[in-house]
Amino acid sequence: MKNYNQSNKPSDSLIKKNQNLVICYPETNLNKSNMQILEKARKELIFINSIVIPPRDAKCFNVKRGEFFRIECVDGSQVGDLNLFNSENLDEKFYSGKTRALHGTHLSTGDQLWSSLPQLRPLATITYDTLDWYGWDNDGGSVHDVIGTRCDPYTAKLLTNKDYHYCCHSNLIRALMNEKNISINQAEKLIHDVLNVFMCTGFTKDTHQYFMKASPVRTGDYLEFYAEEDLLGILSTCPGGNCSSKHSSDEAKCFSLKVSKWKSSFTKLKDLKKIKTSTYNNNHGLS
Ligand SMILES: [Zn+2]
Repeated sequence: MKNYNQSNKPSDSLIKKNQNLVICYPETNLNKSNMQILEKARKELIFINSIVIPPRDAKCFNVKRGEFFRIECVDGSQVGDLNLFNSENLDEKFYSGKTRALHGTHLSTGDQLWSSLPQLRPLATITYDTLDWYGWDNDGGSVHDVIGTRCDPYTAKLLTNKDYHYCCHSNLIRALMNEKNISINQAEKLIHDVLNVFMCTGFTKDTHQYFMKASPVRTGDYLEFYAEEDLLGILSTCPGGNCSSKHSSDEAKCFSLKVSKWKSSFTKLKDLKKIKTSTYNNNHGLS
């Protein structure tokens, strides 16, 4: 946290600090042309089915490529933690760090959820966000972050010395074990950093620490995705509730979340091609 200041400040410190910013990963070469088709397609959505995830729990859902899914707030302000996999290959999973590097700390319409290396391709595209009115607040906060990892019992134990079993990490593990009939160890290796759906977060301006504040989400709000691949999703209803005070405990008031699945009758949607995995030749300088 930069608490120590033991080094000698060089005479050119201001020059060193005032260099021009360079965006590490400019979006200029990302192909976003599909959004025009997706915007039309989402206006002709036909409901398929839905599941409800009770408070402090998680459930899996499957979505076919070409379908849409929504994460919906249904009975009170509640944050959700999302994992996504290519359902044909669970080793290809959502890569929150690279998604953050490409699209910024918080996601909204038009942003994509990228998969891990070596595939690195979009698993899903966000097509609608009822909270896009929020933008950025005066604390530098916003919603739907890819900066928090997920609440987990190990960090909770480290900081509070208590065993708590309903953190998002554990909820996601239980759901994946049930879905795939695998062991805790197998499931835990597959669970990954999440998209924090509806969560309102940022970094403090003074110490740059990760903060949360009450989510603006209310009943009726949703975040909508287009599935670029056949997907297995897992959504956890965070024990932090709307994350206005505590997480990793039973103290916060928590609510259910709904995941609904939709298909579109827009015929041009079929023109969208399956996105290939990275074309890097995997040589890594070996020959
Ligand atoms: Zn959580």
